[in-house]
Amino acid sequence: MAKNLGHMFLQILNNAELDQIAMICKISNASLTYNELLVNSLKIAKKMRDIGIERGDVVGFVSENRIEYCVSVIACFYLQAVIHLMNPSYLKAELQQGFDKSKPKVVFTSKENFDKVIMLQQETNYVETIFNFDVNYLDITKDGLALKQIELDPEISIERAIIINSSGTTGYPQSVVLTQNNIHYAMEYLQDSYMQYKEKAKLVILPFCHISGLFIVLDALQKKSKLVILSKFKPDLYCEIIQEHKIVSLETVPTIATFLARNPIIDKYNLTSVKNIVCGGAPLAQDIQNTILKKFNCQVRQLYGMTETCGLVMLAPIGEKWKVGSVGKPIPNIETKVVDPLTKKKLNCGELGEICVKSGMNMKEYLGNIEATLAAFDEEGFFRTGDIGYFDKDGYFFINDRLKDVIKYKGYQVLPVELENMLLLHKDIVDAAVIGIADERFGELPMAFVVKDKNSELNEEDVKYYIAVPIIERCSINKQLHGGVKFVESIPRGATGKILRRLLRETLKK
Ligand code: AMP
Repeated sequence: MAKNLGHMFLQILNNAELDQIAMICKISNASLTYNELLVNSLKIAKKMRDIGIERGDVVGFVSENRIEYCVSVIACFYLQAVIHLMNPSYLKAELQQGFDKSKPKVVFTSKENFDKVIMLQQETNYVETIFNFDVNYLDITKDGLALKQIELDPEISIERAIIINSSGTTGYPQSVVLTQNNIHYAMEYLQDSYMQYKEKAKLVILPFCHISGLFIVLDALQKKSKLVILSKFKPDLYCEIIQEHKIVSLETVPTIATFLARNPIIDKYNLTSVKNIVCGGAPLAQDIQNTILKKFNCQVRQLYGMTETCGLVMLAPIGEKWKVGSVGKPIPNIETKVVDPLTKKKLNCGELGEICVKSGMNMKEYLGNIEATLAAFDEEGFFRTGDIGYFDKDGYFFINDRLKDVIKYKGYQVLPVELENMLLLHKDIVDAAVIGIADERFGELPMAFVVKDKNSELNEEDVKYYIAVPIIERCSINKQLHGGVKFVESIPRGATGKILRRLLRETLKK
């Protein structure tokens, strides 16, 4: 039986060089040694236990990337509390939509996000305590007592470990539940040299609220690397860190990959330490991949995965031949198949179909939604990814399209249905549909097709402003209509009323 994550991280921290720097935050310039990480995480755990947090209780996180975030996640692992990670750009209503399902008793946040978390606490009845990294958290790490290590239960007594929001294949907001065993599997895989170079320092810019950012943190700890944390993408600072810390691997999304390919700033720095660039979260344009390849003269590999599979499914193995445009091969111990979306028949090499995957990293469930959970898995236990692709004769996979209604803007999920429902509330809008349009820099941009009332004088800017207007706080920055608005006579729909997004995409090509 696998050990619980708390025990695993205690072992990692106890075996580290205690004076070695574990983390540096490049925005605040704070740093923490492995010893401070161990002591502070035990103090936070003790405080949480004293206020009544027990195994299985949910603890929310609403914060930008920072050292205290990592410390508190590990503290939750010690108690086997379940962490629910929220995108800090979310507005109060969006936070509430997710937290209403998991009902966290405690929320960790920062001064930037404190106001909306306090509002959430006032309007709900589940948040009992808020720890603000910039205020009361500091009192605990300064004066608090630490949990005794022997007080930890060495075994897994609760399966759930992490909750992260994603739509999955449903097109509606869901909360993905990952178990302690899922995390163990993923950490073991990351430990394998198949995936990673051994690195003294690791740069993390991907958000901790996303599975990719979280695993970079957990993996850096298990490898005892020094983690250099960035909470905002600042071009010069990003390059300075790579140069100063001789960063070997860069984990990116298409927005950062485009920066590496196109921005002349990078020529000011010595980035020759970089040997491995991985880009995931959304399709990477071939042109960008080729340009980075030439510029950095190193491997540029696409990573394909999703929250429901701990972010990992495919990657080109280090040292093996790799193909531009491909997302690589399934990683070890993961079964894959491509099936016809209608007949569910298993397809052969070169045939386009839905990619399905099965491994110890497959999520347990969508929280509180048995129907969506059942629909996400087939009768053989494969997770239906909702992505359309094929594999070639060498076993390399290519992703072509999506069955599911999700837009990936900067690697973040934007759900068309959320925007469509908002648009339909406008008095001059009769019908609406939202799709993602390909964008070299941001991956995809949310774009609306709108049927307006025949007497209405609504224009594109009105519609964009209606969605973006800050006072009403309809939706957060990532979900706005960055791809524009097109007025149309009607929205194409199938017999059951489902929007035929493919037809809308085709009208744009014309
Ligand atoms: P998330 O759960 O937010 O990580 O989103 C997962 C989804 O992002 C996948 O199901 C794909 O639709 C998309 N995705 C992730 N990586 C890639 C990639 N390398 N190429 C194309 N799409 C990707």
